Amino acid sequence: MTTPLRADEALASLCRAGLATRIDAAAFAAACDEERGGAPLDAEIALSALASIYGVRGPSEASAVDRAFVVDEHAAADPAVLGAVWLALERWLEHPIPVAVATDLDELVSYAGDLCFLRRHAGAASEAPYLFSIERWRTRDDTPYSLYVLRSDGAPLYALGVPVQFHVHPDTEAAAAGIFRTDGLTSSYREHAPACAACRDALRGAAARGALPDVFQALLG
Ligand SMILES: [Zn+2]
Repeated sequence: MTTPLRADEALASLCRAGLATRIDAAAFAAACDEERGGAPLDAEIALSALASIYGVRGPSEASAVDRAFVVDEHAAADPAVLGAVWLALERWLEHPIPVAVATDLDELVSYAGDLCFLRRHAGAASEAPYLFSIERWRTRDDTPYSLYVLRSDGAPLYALGVPVQFHVHPDTEAAAAGIFRTDGLTSSYREHAPACAACRDALRGAAARGALPDVFQALLG
């Protein structure tokens, strides 16, 4: 059995991951007490406490300073929450995000994850952040929630000891590696490829081998 955490230790480990950076220690300890309901404090409960302070309806003042936000299951389809997430991602990534993907949280984070991933493609802008998420259940009432975080280095997040998801669409990742799947053209790749020398080479190479699916042909210009 692992030794229960103290609230200050839990807060320090979140801070090492760039989370909870402006959260007051006493407020965090109180949130931990509320979430744990007498159970020993662990990483799971500490994240629930963080989510309750960040708020579970998208970016808030407390979460935005950490370039992070939480959305719980009940808030995921709320247009006001989607709008706030859309706006924050556009601001943080300094890039417009098509309204077509902003009507669904999964599509929105998938697009943003791709955008981040493709910015680092072929060695460009190596300090650009990636999009990560941590999906958990709030300990107090078992409600699923997701914590989304932009980070240029994911290692401090993985060190939290809970599963961390790296966001990139499998079709985007495949296309960026020169594997072009039938029907595998994502909108993020369509925007990226024409301006990327490595992608243009890969597209031309596949076309020369007769291995380029029709949907990708238009990218050759
Ligand atoms: Zn590329």
